[in-house]
Amino acid sequence: MLKKSPVLLFFLAAGIVLSGCSQADPDREPEVFDKSDIAMGTVVTERIYSQGEDRTSEVLDLLSQTEHRYLSWREEDSDIGRVNLQAGKGRVPVDGQTAGYLEETLKISEESGGAFDPTLGELTRLWDVEAEDPQIPSPKKIRKLLKKTGYEKIRLGMEEDQDWVELEEGCSIDLGAVGKGVGCDEAAAFLKEDPKVQGAVIAVGGSVLTLGDKPDGTPWKVAVRDPRGGQEELLGVLELEGEHYVSTSGDYEKYFIQDGKRYHHILDPATGRPADAGLISVTVLGENGTVSDGLSTACFVLGKEKGAELLAGYEAEGIFVNQDKKVYVTKGLMENFELEASGYVVFPLSS
Ligand code: ADP
Ligand code: MG
Repeated sequence: MLKKSPVLLFFLAAGIVLSGCSQADPDREPEVFDKSDIAMGTVVTERIYSQGEDRTSEVLDLLSQTEHRYLSWREEDSDIGRVNLQAGKGRVPVDGQTAGYLEETLKISEESGGAFDPTLGELTRLWDVEAEDPQIPSPKKIRKLLKKTGYEKIRLGMEEDQDWVELEEGCSIDLGAVGKGVGCDEAAAFLKEDPKVQGAVIAVGGSVLTLGDKPDGTPWKVAVRDPRGGQEELLGVLELEGEHYVSTSGDYEKYFIQDGKRYHHILDPATGRPADAGLISVTVLGENGTVSDGLSTACFVLGKEKGAELLAGYEAEGIFVNQDKKVYVTKGLMENFELEASGYVVFPLSS
């Protein structure tokens, strides 16, 4: 059975507010185009308001292409697949898109002191928290694989207008923690090129893009899931105007429980074990999808204090939910966030 998108979207339609689109007709209502399907291994939910053509299928195709051409570690002929195959064998030419996303990702690794590490693929597969009968790996196996991790084992450069990536032997790159955010960036670039598109909200799993305006002029409403509720239960709602990139990482996405302890899919690169910094969910709003997605994973590993420092460096905003059901919201987001779930308490957080 397919998983539902962890972020629920609420749309209120009516009226029209124009956003400076030269080719939009002020007297015409935009059409509403909705689509929900699978891409990038997750549920994609789209709503596009446009006076032109339905672009929802093209967005889905674009997301699939982004995965197949650039990001997928599962496919041997994607850029990342080829780099992984050639680990230890020198420079591998890659598309400028791949290099750009990798560069942005490695910056998050650096800024987070390695809490975000795009070389954890082997460890993720060792833990395999989604297996039918998941097991806690032995410390010896974890130690062995940890030797082959570290973002500094990836090098990036350009020669004669050709981007290249070089990876140390035995390592592999896994961009799972930014893939959905990259998808949001690709979708945003595509939709911005269509002057008839007046507004859009696209959820790629736990990463959401809002663009332009809603026809009735009310803000977009992006719901954040209750990390300890059912799939359709909300922690609260974020009201946002215009272009935003919202990503959530949590310990409720993929996990198993053994002896009362939860083992989830976000690993601490320092220990090779599920991150244990006291948080159960982190939502980030950053300058683009890649950054928001990367920062939400990094903050989950770092915890509230260090996470808030990292966000400040990026001028990003966030919502940190800790194990005691305390919800810390950065000051720039306090007015946008409305708590809905009972049992939680909201506190302002200076980032
Ligand atoms: P999701 O994929 O559920 O949206 P995230 O964006 O937080 O959640 O990414 C988690 C995925 O990223 C894991 O499944 C794994 O492939 C990879 N990963 C796990 N820990 C880290 C980490 N510390 N840094 C970077 N990637 C990680
Ligand atoms: Mg992420």
